[in-house]
Amino acid sequence: MTTLLVVVVISTAFGSMAFAWIRAKRMRCSEVEENLKIVNERVEQLELMNRLLEASLNAVPQGLVVCDDEGSDILRNAAAQVFVEARHGDALVEQAIHEVINSALIGEPAHRDLDLIGPPQRMISVSALPLSERNHRFGSVVIVDDVSERRRIDDVRRDFVANISHELKTPVGALGLLAETISTEDDLEVVQRLSRRMTNEAFRVARMIDDLLDLSRIEADDGDKTEAVSLYQVITAATERVKSIARDRSIAIDLHGVGQDLVVFVDERQLISAVGNLLENACKYSDENSTVKVETSCAGSWIEIAVIDSGIGIPTRDIERVFERFYRVDRARSRETGGTGLGLSIVRHVLSNHGGEVHVQSIEGEGSAFTLRLPLGLGKVDEI
Ligand code: ADP
Repeated sequence: MTTLLVVVVISTAFGSMAFAWIRAKRMRCSEVEENLKIVNERVEQLELMNRLLEASLNAVPQGLVVCDDEGSDILRNAAAQVFVEARHGDALVEQAIHEVINSALIGEPAHRDLDLIGPPQRMISVSALPLSERNHRFGSVVIVDDVSERRRIDDVRRDFVANISHELKTPVGALGLLAETISTEDDLEVVQRLSRRMTNEAFRVARMIDDLLDLSRIEADDGDKTEAVSLYQVITAATERVKSIARDRSIAIDLHGVGQDLVVFVDERQLISAVGNLLENACKYSDENSTVKVETSCAGSWIEIAVIDSGIGIPTRDIERVFERFYRVDRARSRETGGTGLGLSIVRHVLSNHGGEVHVQSIEGEGSAFTLRLPLGLGKVDEI
């Protein structure tokens, strides 16, 4: 009996121990499963982050190269990939990448500017920065940037400022001299002549400032003032602007070739300014008592406005350059006519703002035809 009791007690004890062990084992299994689930989720998150990071780096237009502390590539985005085993200019970029990495590896930030002849001609900037954490260097990052457009804009801006200063210096200097001469002059006739010249110079400065303001307004315009307007109205408004110049030189402006029912979708003020500038030039660079013609037509999906004169014309070598700011074929003549050299830049800008183009045909001594091409308007004038 005692023996039986002992057996029962022992087997009960064993039974509960086994039960506890199984329970503990089951619990550990579910804990492991739980942990495995967390690890899997974390891996998925990391994979997603990795894909996002890779896509983001590939979306960056600059080339990015990340290296370890021995200078071996750890990561290259798509823009930097093109330099690997490249030829010509891109091979020089790859060489510069290695040079700057070598500097960054010894803790020195480095920079190289490459002037690649092309074509296309490019300016590439290559910079490297050491990567470190608590005085421990663990690699470097290289940034490769195509700065050609930025440099070009900087150059244009610098030239523009230099040109304005030069253009304003002449009339302002003349004004100073004239004022000084007048102050010591007793002869009334001379004083009157000098004061007329002063007025002319003052007008020249004012016109230059007006044209500069016009140009900067047109350049900054975001095109939100476009509306359907009658082309005939635009041309008559532009003609009105040059009425006094035409009258002074007895020049007739013939609008018989202007269609009365054409509509253009434009910034009216800008187009009046463009046509006005062409008409002003046509009057300025034509003989007295001549005629300037304006014609309009539809050509495919374009509307064309032509301003035709039979004036002095433009030499072939200058035709390409007349749209540049401050460019004049004949400085002395432009000075005489009060030109600023900005009129055709304004015209070109207006047309580019409207998705259009400007063309010129000219024969020296025979005349010029400037044609503005605009995308076709919305319909007929009675539909406005
Ligand atoms: P400007 O104020 O000097 O007229 P523009 O930019 O309007 O400046 O024109 C640039 C140059 O192009 C002028 O100086 C002139 O030499 C030439 N030009 C423009 N239009 C004509 C034209 N219709 N006939 C002859 N030359 C022209």
